[in-house]
Amino acid sequence: MEFALIDAIRRRTALARTDVLLGIGDDAAVLEVPPGQALVAAIDTLVAGVHFPLDTAAADIGWKALAVNLSDLAAMGAEPAWALLALTLPQPDAAFVDGLAEGFLALAAPHRVALVGGDTTRGPLALSVAVHGFVPPGMALTRAGARVDDVVMVTGTLGDAAAGLRCVQTRVVVAPPLRAALVARLNRPTPRLAAGLALRGLASACLDVSDGLLADLGHICDRSQVGAEIEAARLPLSPALRQAFALDAARDFALAGGDDYELCFTVPPGKVDDAVAALATSGTPATVIGRIVSGSSVRVQMPDGAWIAPAHRGWDHFSP
Ligand code: ADP
Ligand code: MG
Repeated sequence: MEFALIDAIRRRTALARTDVLLGIGDDAAVLEVPPGQALVAAIDTLVAGVHFPLDTAAADIGWKALAVNLSDLAAMGAEPAWALLALTLPQPDAAFVDGLAEGFLALAAPHRVALVGGDTTRGPLALSVAVHGFVPPGMALTRAGARVDDVVMVTGTLGDAAAGLRCVQTRVVVAPPLRAALVARLNRPTPRLAAGLALRGLASACLDVSDGLLADLGHICDRSQVGAEIEAARLPLSPALRQAFALDAARDFALAGGDDYELCFTVPPGKVDDAVAALATSGTPATVIGRIVSGSSVRVQMPDGAWIAPAHRGWDHFSP
């Protein structure tokens, strides 16, 4: 049965890349890194009931498991190439695996990501996806390069996924089309790969917003040994979020909600125009939301001028 499942995955996800010298079927994959490129590797696990609601559709789970990983490559400015999938299933459910593979492939195919191997075991539903990509040596976008006076920017809009989670988990009444738009951001996040490539040589620091803007910008500040000031009035909020929730709630989702998978990045003042132009060429909207300052804290200025220094920055799996 395990082999039937693996075969089903292989058939559903087949994608040819000449740099895959040996794919699914042997003890390990054999892969060829292009000359002059550094290998970028990341892994993320999705556990049922923790990273997605238990009743999430199989195809959405497959999509999201790859998306959160491609988002990490995007944040590094890397070009994706290969993925490995470790799948833990309560029972050998062929229809479920078919759905997973379909969602996974729907995202893998347009980005030319080949599934080159994995592992299949029995247990509580969980997926670990490892991804590999390339970046020219020295060109990776890291969390450590932000400098005082750099501008803080984000791609797309923030808060939609957290609002979608609120719709799924509570009885909050939201008009069906708005609810669908928000839940889609939760279940089918879009990794900002083109934006990551466009920001090579322009962003001084970059990461993807997975745990919430304040928490993640805090990581840039920690690694860069700087502080940041955000203007709440500048936070990019989607029309769906604005229509579905009051402005205060929408801003809270944008500041502390997770799962958006937008890029948050810093740019030296002299490179902001170039960054905006490069992102526009890649089809990515981006917004200036604040600036890097000396210190170590992330502070938010509310529209009435008051400053808040949020204690609760976002999602922490091990917080009590
Ligand atoms: P081994 O016991 O040698 O680790 P497996 O029987 O686990 O091998 O896997 C056989 C082949 O199928 C390997 O090439 C492995 O990478 C691939 N594979 C197993 N599970 C998955 C999966 N969930 N997705 C993709 N490939 C898989
Ligand atoms: Mg083996």
